Amino acid sequence: MSGTPSTPARPSGGDDPTAGKSFRTPIGTHDLAPPESGRWVALLGTFIGAADRAGFGYLQTPIFEDIGVFSRIGEGTDVVGKEMYEFADRSDRRLALRPEGTASVCRAFAQHRPTTPWKVWYQGPFFRYEAPQAGRYRQFHQIGAETLGTDDPDADVEIIALTAEFFGAIGLQRVPLLLNSMGDADTRLAYGEALTSYLQRRAADVDPADRDKIERHPLRILDSKRAATAAVAAEAPQITDFLSGETAAHFERVRAGLDALGIEHAVEPKLVRGLDYYTRTTFEFRAASLDAAQDTICGGGRYNGLVEALGGPPTPGIGFALGIERLLLACDAEGVFDVPAQRAEVWVIDTAGGAAARDLTHQLRSVGVRADRAFDDRSIRAQMRAADRSGAEIALIVGTDEIDAGTVTVRPLRRADGGSRDMPQQTVPRSELLVTLRTVFDVLNAPAPASADSSNPA
Ligand code: ATP
Ligand code: MG
Repeated sequence: MSGTPSTPARPSGGDDPTAGKSFRTPIGTHDLAPPESGRWVALLGTFIGAADRAGFGYLQTPIFEDIGVFSRIGEGTDVVGKEMYEFADRSDRRLALRPEGTASVCRAFAQHRPTTPWKVWYQGPFFRYEAPQAGRYRQFHQIGAETLGTDDPDADVEIIALTAEFFGAIGLQRVPLLLNSMGDADTRLAYGEALTSYLQRRAADVDPADRDKIERHPLRILDSKRAATAAVAAEAPQITDFLSGETAAHFERVRAGLDALGIEHAVEPKLVRGLDYYTRTTFEFRAASLDAAQDTICGGGRYNGLVEALGGPPTPGIGFALGIERLLLACDAEGVFDVPAQRAEVWVIDTAGGAAARDLTHQLRSVGVRADRAFDDRSIRAQMRAADRSGAEIALIVGTDEIDAGTVTVRPLRRADGGSRDMPQQTVPRSELLVTLRTVFDVLNAPAPASADSSNPA
């Protein structure tokens, strides 16, 4: 037998045990469908605008990578140690679904050696085996950006300003920025010792579920959400007291830069972030409108050792990642970024078989009009209902009379904002359709005179 245990035989057609079964999305994953998906597209568009103006180019890396790329983040972290989707492919390569973006960006940098500074942004799905709940999923989506190849504190400021600009553009108000510095390797060493001996003294007060971290991962104690642990953490020594002259100066330059740009921030010495690779600046935007367990919508920081750990030259970097689902939850909570569903501007009603609808929608789309139609040769009433439901401002009606005369009937339905406008329908030669449409759009959507009642009478 040549079959290996790692490639079990798959059921063949006839005795497929899943035949006739209905399927659902796996736990912790979701479909994204209209109209909600329109909001995602608009969100991405807004970010792309901000990233483009700031000189960041789009980077797309594979969704799975050699598992070693991610283990460099730190074997002791939850992301790698507990949450990673690992698998072997059919040739027994050890791979993992990407749990985060920075390691892949650094792998790409080490592989391609681009000129610096290398400023890139990314977006897409990420995977972590977590307990699903609101704002926490197994497949979630991030937008991120990274600047590699410079230690300049202004690069930190630029990265933070990009996120602040983006949040402003989508209308989020209640997302305070917390800032900290992790110093350098010496800082972490000295601080780690001070923190561990403090925690050892207070071990009895630490929540039992967190106690093993005292030796294994003392920094993790600081961002524990358990009340007893948090009380101990509140009195712990602070990393900002252990910064070397150089890293303290870097931190001050970042803070001064944020002040100069009017970006409010608070220093939070307990902000140590979940990944091992951070040095110097770390930051988070937390949504005041969300539950504390899932209120971090964006996290980031400087990592000056990661490219080297991935086989590249020593290269400093700074970046952030934000969770799109959580960002949208925060938008909902604040009642902002309510993107109207995509709708047609013009609806073509064809009672003569459908050929006119086929041709007219095509022509209108090619000159930039959002045009749509019903299918299946429905009755004129059914087509009118579809036109109404669509939210289109104008219906174009083509029946046998219009076809014989080479005309189209233009029937104004409503203003783009939904309000009604009293405007008669008119039948015009096909050759004049575009001009007529433009006029009708203009009249429909002209600001209403103060005296006229443009509200929907219904
Ligand atoms: P948390 O402490 O909430 O688990 P994290 O520190 O693990 O967050 P990062 O690795 O910094 O998160 O990821 C950046 C952002 O991605 C987070 O701020 C969050 O908005 C989002 N995010 C992380 N994990 C998930 C998840 N499982 N589901 C949805 N969004 C997530
Ligand atoms: Mg996490």
